[in-house]
Amino acid sequence: MDFDVIVIGGGGAGLSAACHAARNGASVMILEADKMLGGATALAGGVVYAAGTRVQRDAGIVDSPEAMFQYMMSLNQWSIRPALAKIMCEGGASIIDWLIELGNEFPPSAIVESGVGGCPRGHQSIGAGIGIVQSLANDAGANGVEVALGSRVSELIVEGGRVCGVRAAGTELRAKAVIVTTGGFGNSLEMIKRLWPTAAAHGSRVYSFYEKVPFNMGDGIKLGESAGANVTGIDNGLLVCSPNFVKDTEAFLPDWAMVVNRDGRRFIAEDASYAVSGYLVNEQPEMRCFAIFDEPALAEACADENVVKHYINDPGSESWRVNVIRRHVETGRVKVADSIEELAHRADISAEALRASLDRYNEYAKTGDDPEFFKKTKKMYSFRTPPFYALEIRASTIVSCHAGLDIDNFGRVLDANGRSVPGLYAGGEVLGCTMGRRYVGGGIGIANALIFGRLAGLTAAADVHSAAN
Ligand SMILES: Cc1cc2nc3c(=O)[nH]c(=O)nc-3n(C[C@H](O)[C@H](O)[C@H](O)COP(=O)(O)OP(=O)(O)OC[C@H]3O[C@@H](n4cnc5c(N)ncnc54)[C@H](O)[C@@H]3O)c2cc1C
Repeated sequence: MDFDVIVIGGGGAGLSAACHAARNGASVMILEADKMLGGATALAGGVVYAAGTRVQRDAGIVDSPEAMFQYMMSLNQWSIRPALAKIMCEGGASIIDWLIELGNEFPPSAIVESGVGGCPRGHQSIGAGIGIVQSLANDAGANGVEVALGSRVSELIVEGGRVCGVRAAGTELRAKAVIVTTGGFGNSLEMIKRLWPTAAAHGSRVYSFYEKVPFNMGDGIKLGESAGANVTGIDNGLLVCSPNFVKDTEAFLPDWAMVVNRDGRRFIAEDASYAVSGYLVNEQPEMRCFAIFDEPALAEACADENVVKHYINDPGSESWRVNVIRRHVETGRVKVADSIEELAHRADISAEALRASLDRYNEYAKTGDDPEFFKKTKKMYSFRTPPFYALEIRASTIVSCHAGLDIDNFGRVLDANGRSVPGLYAGGEVLGCTMGRRYVGGGIGIANALIFGRLAGLTAAADVHSAAN
């Protein structure tokens, strides 16, 4: 046997799995397809969603894993297996402790309310995702984990129904346990079509935050399936909103504008969390909506950095810059007109309803009080001065995939009959059973990677150990 444990994919989940397996006595090899470790985790803002942490206590925030469990399960209408949600909710505090022990910093003043749960659980790491990856890679190295970069696993070796190794770049490696941590499938149109019909319906408009990590193509799901694994969570994931003028990590609706659907009706507070806005936009007619504004608002809001930025270190999205919007007036992607009725005609929005929505909105803007959708934006503009603009927005940007492999409460991969596939474990975004239909909030992706990576690593090491005794 070459190794006790082989980990496929060296992002957050893979590193967490490797560190925990190695700390528990296993010899571990990470096979990473890319030229460097990190995957999407290294691109991440570094927010980690967790409840009942010492950082929250230092910030005076009263919270508990139980409260997070109730929120997560209610949001997902109990469609997540409760035992897995419990592992996520109870695992966060110790993951934050571990990351701090490894040198990461989570200032209590930088905890943000992410999602719609009403409790600040988004722990912002000073060093962002790349800092977290570096600290995990250091820990893996210190615990003797070996790493092979440029090693894309193409096949699992299955003998007598048991996974006992992999083939990567022409080499065969044997192990007592194989952990799949290959991340999401946002870079594969084929997998999107298969597992995420809502995203696929946007056709060529689909863009993935993952673009810079080319191997996040769902290999792990296919590898699992080749050994009999079940795939679950079809059509689940987080799509965020963008005019798609540039390929950028933008996720927010313009909270300074009025947003309506094709029927001319408002359907959301424009400052709603990106954890909910994409889902609502995709439920609108033709899965699209429009930002409506006038010339003074465009000139003022888009030029004001404080208006277009949403969180600490937010570079501000390119798509919402004045010059970019004006350029797309010329390309025809932003509609412009001297009256609301003409604008409605050009953008193919119901004119009467748009007028009614705008009249109501302008009344609310006088006092800054939105009694319909409770928007709490920094500044509510009224739109009375032509020209008027309509800019189409879609929720077609992939942030995280929630469809993939199924596991038991210990990180063992399950088949369609609910039996574990011997020798196979999984964690992180390759899973389809832990994140649910609705995105819990910013930071849940890294939490999912580190918590379920750890679970897979611990179980694999324990299984290897008990098989040896
Ligand atoms: C721009 C951006 C910002 C984000 N910000 C946040 C945030 O602040 N907080 C948060 O919680 N979440 C965030 N997310 C989501 C979060 O980063 C991911 O959900 C999480 O990091 C996934 O971790 P993972 O280990 O499962 O996958 P990854 O970190 O993507 O790792 C998967 C690895 O597997 C490798 N791989 C794939 N196929 C193979 C193969 N066949 N053989 C070998 N290796 C393979 C890939 O190259 C990759 O390195 C963000 C995502 C993006 C893209």
